[in-house]
Amino acid sequence: MIDLKGRRALVMGVANDRSIAWGIAESLSRAGAEIALSYLPDERGRSQRRVERLAESIGSKLIVGCDVREDEQIEAMFGRIREEWQALDILVHSLAWAHIEDLRRGLSEIPRDHFCAANEASVYSFIAACRYASGLMANRPGSITTLTYLGSQRAIPNYNIMGLAKAGLESAVRYLAAELGPAGIRVNAVSPGPIETLAASAIPDLDEMLKTSAARSPLRRTVTADEVGDVVAFLSSDLARGVTGETLYVDAGYHII
Ligand code: NAD
Repeated sequence: MIDLKGRRALVMGVANDRSIAWGIAESLSRAGAEIALSYLPDERGRSQRRVERLAESIGSKLIVGCDVREDEQIEAMFGRIREEWQALDILVHSLAWAHIEDLRRGLSEIPRDHFCAANEASVYSFIAACRYASGLMANRPGSITTLTYLGSQRAIPNYNIMGLAKAGLESAVRYLAAELGPAGIRVNAVSPGPIETLAASAIPDLDEMLKTSAARSPLRRTVTADEVGDVVAFLSSDLARGVTGETLYVDAGYHII
């Protein structure tokens, strides 16, 4: 039984109830952790209202808007966590972004500014979050987890620019695990198979990916955000106290074939 009672977790990247971040928040909450959620603010405040409604169902009272492209917003979000909680045990970074048209064209056609923007939102945001989170994890067994995808290791059709970003992200996991390990902080990545979410719907032929995954993976099915959440809960717990710098696949075994 995973026990996260008394632990405080910030889960970044909830857009709606299909978000992997939401599956993770629910799993962490079931294990007894207190949850703070972050979301990308929009002008009409719709995301905020949506996330507030979800938060209510797990008794989460700390909900922070944060556009990770802005340093000030990242700093303000962790400032808020410090104010409310003084410390943090668990950070989950479950977000990524690229210009949608870049998922529909070859890597050789990606302009410099699009390359930089995708990496800034998807990789640098993780590095910056680790900087602030580690400051709040002093003298506690901190755990940091991010979300990656197999397209970092293989040339998966239509993943293109995100494949490079995820490769950078997985490398960042290893370097940050090495850097923060002496302070007792573990840093890992979880790599789910395809799940129908808002971000995934930007990938052309997502249906095909889901079908192929279900047909070919050893377990002959796709995975759910809930299953990803349970693995993140495990990684965030003392049961995984000896695991860091790892990329753990939750893809019904697809990556081995
Ligand atoms: P999602 O659309 O529910 O979540 C993506 C989140 O990124 C959203 O909450 C969005 O608001 C946030 N985001 C984008 N730009 C942002 C910014 N500038 N500032 C703050 N937040 C920003 O989709 P998801 O599938 O749950 O994605 C979560 C993570 O899981 C991503 O890293 C994704 O690459 C990864 N992943 C998804 C799948 C899949 O098939 N769905 C598979 C493997 C990995």
